[in-house]
Amino acid sequence: MKKWILFFGLWILLFCGCSRHSELVIEGIIEENNNEMISIHYPKIGIKKLDSQIETYILKQKESFHQYMLTKSMENDQELNIDYQYQEIGKRYLNITLTTFFTSSTMAHPSKEVKTFVFDKQKNRFLMLSDIASINVGRVKMNILTLHPDCIFPHELDKVFENTDTLKFTFARDSITLYFNPYEIASGNCGIIKYKFPFTDFKIELQDDQIKNTFEYHPIHKELSISKPTIALTFDDGPSKYTKEIVTLLNKYDANATFFILGTKVKNYHDTLTYVLENGNEIGNHSYNHKKLTRLNSDELQEQIDLTNQVVKETLDYEIRFLRPTYGAVTKKLKKETDMEIVLWNVDTLDWKLKNSKKIYEKVIRDVGDRKIILMHDIYKSTLEALKLILPELKNRGYQIVTVSDLKDIEKKRNEKIQ
Ligand code: ZN
Repeated sequence: MKKWILFFGLWILLFCGCSRHSELVIEGIIEENNNEMISIHYPKIGIKKLDSQIETYILKQKESFHQYMLTKSMENDQELNIDYQYQEIGKRYLNITLTTFFTSSTMAHPSKEVKTFVFDKQKNRFLMLSDIASINVGRVKMNILTLHPDCIFPHELDKVFENTDTLKFTFARDSITLYFNPYEIASGNCGIIKYKFPFTDFKIELQDDQIKNTFEYHPIHKELSISKPTIALTFDDGPSKYTKEIVTLLNKYDANATFFILGTKVKNYHDTLTYVLENGNEIGNHSYNHKKLTRLNSDELQEQIDLTNQVVKETLDYEIRFLRPTYGAVTKKLKKETDMEIVLWNVDTLDWKLKNSKKIYEKVIRDVGDRKIILMHDIYKSTLEALKLILPELKNRGYQIVTVSDLKDIEKKRNEKIQ
């Protein structure tokens, strides 16, 4: 009997431990090959039915991007960007929106597409609009027409509303949002049309069971030496399911790092980012959803930078100091349009390409030196494995491993000492 109680207790302990710390996994694919840039982020929920639909959609988008590239092999600077929005409505319902952005050097405007998934976790099924609401079609159509008088095709608008179950939508406790892709109901210059209207008369039950996150972190301050050889470790494109383990590993070697994160993931990796900060690491800005910043116009550029700073400020009460531009691309225009300090690197581990811990280790050890900034990505298992080799070796060689801010401080103090 005792054995059973022990077994059961252990199981509860394990189960509670896991569920309390479980975070949504965001899959990240970031690649740069010749003239092709790919950045894809999507949630992996752990519900087979939903995950497989999302993955099928992502594959389809990737496939059409490659098809397009094959026909236009002379074009360069092609960029595919898929970003997600994930929203839980109570414990039962999920809204997932995937937005595809696709552009190349010769396209006047990027092509955009949106796809939505609304899922009932309890019944393990996708929901259509008629499952959750009966909307006043006439009024909704009229409002959309009034909001976009110059670009709506009235005939197409009528057609999409013939069957409301084909409509792309998401919902909140007090509203419904409809989504229309370019050319679906309007000319392309209107882009994706989003129409959000207040709604509370749902056919489904919405319990008010949202858990509020309470957050508090206490950064630690370390004594740093100005005479020791010093390097800054930096990680781009995260956070991810590997980030926490990387932080634990850094702690083991009394090391810190700067994590240049994507704003889009912040809310889903709240715990991870808290852990990053609590352990004396630094967070930097690596755009909102990894679009190539130098391609964007001023407003879009500002949005990519500001949204990330804002979401980090709001959810973590933390002010970001540094910007690391996506794909390492910097222009005069970019420098002019941001007040943030831009930080690049001088040791590129190529971990995203090598994906081999031994090779990444060898590259770092070959190129490392005092005051170097090392570029890695905390979204690969091979990078985590490589760190298990790199960190003890750097420690053996007497290196102090710090954040970019600390490296800059040390450089400043060294300069003051010389003068
Ligand atoms: Zn990146």
